[in-house]
Amino acid sequence: MPELPEVERARQVIEAGALRRRISAVDDADTYVARPHAPGEIADALVGRELVAAHRRGKAMWVETSEDGPILGLHLGMAGRLVVDEDPAPNNWDRFTIHFADGGMLALRDKRRLGRARLEPDLDLVGPDAAEISRAEFRARIGRGTAPLKARLMDQGVIAGVGNLLADETLWRAYLSPRREAGSLSEEELDRLRRELRAATRAAIRKGGVHTGAFIAHRERGGVCPRCGTPLERATVGGRTTYWCPAEQI
Ligand SMILES: [Zn+2]
Repeated sequence: MPELPEVERARQVIEAGALRRRISAVDDADTYVARPHAPGEIADALVGRELVAAHRRGKAMWVETSEDGPILGLHLGMAGRLVVDEDPAPNNWDRFTIHFADGGMLALRDKRRLGRARLEPDLDLVGPDAAEISRAEFRARIGRGTAPLKARLMDQGVIAGVGNLLADETLWRAYLSPRREAGSLSEEELDRLRRELRAATRAAIRKGGVHTGAFIAHRERGGVCPRCGTPLERATVGGRTTYWCPAEQI
């Protein structure tokens, strides 16, 4: 599932290749991907405009359009990605496509059809971005309550962008147990957690996604800690399958 690093790379795809190009047509015929809009509604709002800026907060991504046009929200779903100026995908895997007057295109390519395109997305429920949040705000938002630390980290209304893999990678890097009560962390532990979250996120953006994390390759039955060799624990925490090193993560 796309986490913050995957969405940031998708945002960079837009920024690098799809801005300031006149929109000549929009294929929004997939009414599931474009819900709640009727076919043609997004097209009517976008044709003749340009995309002018691409933004992201957590896993939410949105694009501004020219002449004070509408905001276009794009969501990658479980396995979607954005492509620019590629040949059309087979099997209608391009679920939503913006065609440019110069002959190019931007498409949401999504085999599983769980991505989404919509106008004026509601961003009010999205917390501050996990990679940008200040130290004070991180302490205040994460370091409270009785929920397991991992559940708190993954609550998109608390901070936005951390999914299952990035949470496991970050907690391993920070030597913290996913089952710790969030409110029990010291300020020093919270600061360390924030530091490792930013480092893990930056590394994943650079290397191409959360699957590149040092811990992730060992995150399987029979896996051992890549630092100390201890067999990893496995349990459901915060509703998600979780791996951690019981010797080092306390
Ligand atoms: Zn270990």
